[in-house]
Amino acid sequence: LEAHFSVITKDDGKENGLIAVLHDVTEQERIEEERREFVANVSHELRTPLTSMKSYLEALADGALEDSEIAPRFIKVTQNETERMIRLVNDLLQLSKMDSKDYQMNAVPINLNLFVEQIVERFQMSTKNEDIQIKHKLPNNKDFIINGDRDKLTQLLDNILSNAVKYSPEGGTINCVLKEEKDRVVISIKDEGVGIPKENIQHVFDRFYRVDKARSRNLGGTGLGLAIAKEIVLAHGGSIWVSSDWGKGTTISFSLPYDEAVKEDEDI
Ligand code: ADP
Repeated sequence: LEAHFSVITKDDGKENGLIAVLHDVTEQERIEEERREFVANVSHELRTPLTSMKSYLEALADGALEDSEIAPRFIKVTQNETERMIRLVNDLLQLSKMDSKDYQMNAVPINLNLFVEQIVERFQMSTKNEDIQIKHKLPNNKDFIINGDRDKLTQLLDNILSNAVKYSPEGGTINCVLKEEKDRVVISIKDEGVGIPKENIQHVFDRFYRVDKARSRNLGGTGLGLAIAKEIVLAHGGSIWVSSDWGKGTTISFSLPYDEAVKEDEDI
């Protein structure tokens, strides 16, 4: 229900009444509005790289192609924009699949300790910025077995870790911690990066939301990484949240229900 109030004033300026208009904003209208906004966002996100590519291609056609210094740079820009568009379309397809009612996960038992360890190590090897350290801390007396989709969980960690790397300063450390909290297993990824201002925190899981649009685009972001992360966590019956200190760093955490915990040092 939406309410609009108007105050009625007499000619002499005195208030002598109030009109309240009540609108019934139905669920249907809200969904329709969200859909419109989503389509507008997608169009805008695709138009931006296309417009930029168009102007670089025009410049190349107008003679920049003959300039052996400028030409490779302009071609590189159009290549980067194309790659970002492909990422964007892949992200959109993935969200659309998970939004569909009959979406099915390919769930198998996974040893989460090993899984996290492998992904963090792979990330450390492949991260281009060698100044950034990625560490992990796992419980050494318990192995957590969860029922999950390997590809989806890999993407979940990839999305969070790649943000942590993107927004980290030179020489920053990223800590990935796995621990037990109540009857859940919680994974948190903490960086020492730019952080997120308090007023923006609640929106970071929204589709296309970015704190700094220009910066995110320059870093190759699509604005969908955390929205996808959230869908993956929800599909696994978990929850995801963020805490951040502007200028000091960000921690993204998610919890997952686990099937069983195996004690490694148990005498049999
Ligand atoms: P993007 O493709 O822009 O990275 P995401 O959905 O992954 O999109 O993240 C949404 C926004 O949240 C980012 O644009 C950025 O402003 C903010 N953000 C995400 N992770 C971090 C982080 N580790 N440190 C600082 N800001 C972050």
